[in-house]
Amino acid sequence: MTCNSENSLAHVHACMPKQPMQHLADKCWSKMASLRVKSEESDKAQASSSSSSNKRPRLSSSVSTLPPASLMSIEEISQARLTLSSILPPSPSDFEVTFLGTGSAVPSKNRSNSCIAISTAAAGPMSRLRFLLDVGEGACSQLYQSVGGNDECFDEALCSIRLVWISHHHADHICGLPMLLEHIHRAQRAKRRRIPATDSAMHASPPRVMVIAPQQVLQYYEYFAVLAGIDDIVSFVPTVNTLYAGSTTQVCQATGGIITRLRSVAVEHCRFSYAAVIDLYSGFKIVYSGDCRPSQSIITAGAGCDLLIHEATFDDSMGADALSKRHCTTSEAVGVGTSMRAKHCVLTHFSQRYPSSSPHQLSLSSPSFPKAAFSTSFDFLRFAYPSQIASLPRTTRLLCDLYDVMDSE
Ligand SMILES: [Zn+2]
Repeated sequence: MTCNSENSLAHVHACMPKQPMQHLADKCWSKMASLRVKSEESDKAQASSSSSSNKRPRLSSSVSTLPPASLMSIEEISQARLTLSSILPPSPSDFEVTFLGTGSAVPSKNRSNSCIAISTAAAGPMSRLRFLLDVGEGACSQLYQSVGGNDECFDEALCSIRLVWISHHHADHICGLPMLLEHIHRAQRAKRRRIPATDSAMHASPPRVMVIAPQQVLQYYEYFAVLAGIDDIVSFVPTVNTLYAGSTTQVCQATGGIITRLRSVAVEHCRFSYAAVIDLYSGFKIVYSGDCRPSQSIITAGAGCDLLIHEATFDDSMGADALSKRHCTTSEAVGVGTSMRAKHCVLTHFSQRYPSSSPHQLSLSSPSFPKAAFSTSFDFLRFAYPSQIASLPRTTRLLCDLYDVMDSE
């Protein structure tokens, strides 16, 4: 199966052997089904005529150590599975968000380091284009897996990247950049080799990938690009140039008009840490927090945004750690989203001390949180905005429960 630059969102979905989120759900479903069999066998062995007939069947035997809130009835699981399979197809006016890494510090089995890909549908002669927010270690291999391990789709995805925005200099946000740039260079050369020699227009150099990052990050990567012989495919822009509207034309040109405004906003984390406020051609506004304490600068600059992607490194019991390490707890991140009246907030950048997202799920189940507007991210979670956003909170809560079950094995 092949991809070409004229692909629509729907066609790119069709290119992939399975949607990652659906694949995960299927895998978890199989696990749940096997637990159900074990449970039923156990129930038969201990059958009691009065208790079994009036109670809902539960996945009890293998998950008995989980708190009651994590137990789902067979009916609830079936209903949630139905929801997963009936997610609305994306519309051509959507933008698509793919979480390639959702963990902090070091990669783990379930969560790679920070990387979020945002892409648009192909519209008329415009190709599908992507930009990345942070590029943690393993971002390139995560991108490869996100397109189903298809070499051709992978190269097409690499060639569609126009901009990389890096929030700050910590390793879990920047270490994937060298491999990413080398693969973009390789994919661009391979693409040009496939173009007939007679098509001189197509042989013109592709637009450079714009990398926006704090100066101390750029100092290192500018040397790297020259030494690796790939400095002809990339242009480096210091973040300070995007603090005001001055770089808007530059960013707009680099992204083929998809981003109409990009503004970096200083936040409280390490020195030179920023959040991004991004306006798209379709009128949607996306805000990405990077790493930070709850920041008034984000609330002000991103007020009323369509989608807030906010870090929530710690659960609510670790407020002191969040304060000393200048990160956010779940409640603090949700508080920022509520204060800025974000239409939807997706939490990310979880401490690797949580193999699943139970602590965050418990926080999000608090009656004070508006459940419909908050979701939890997972590696390879992908959704189209706004077509699929209504299903996201319920879907991610289901995945939290399924992760709990898998972790208990
Ligand atoms: Zn950091």
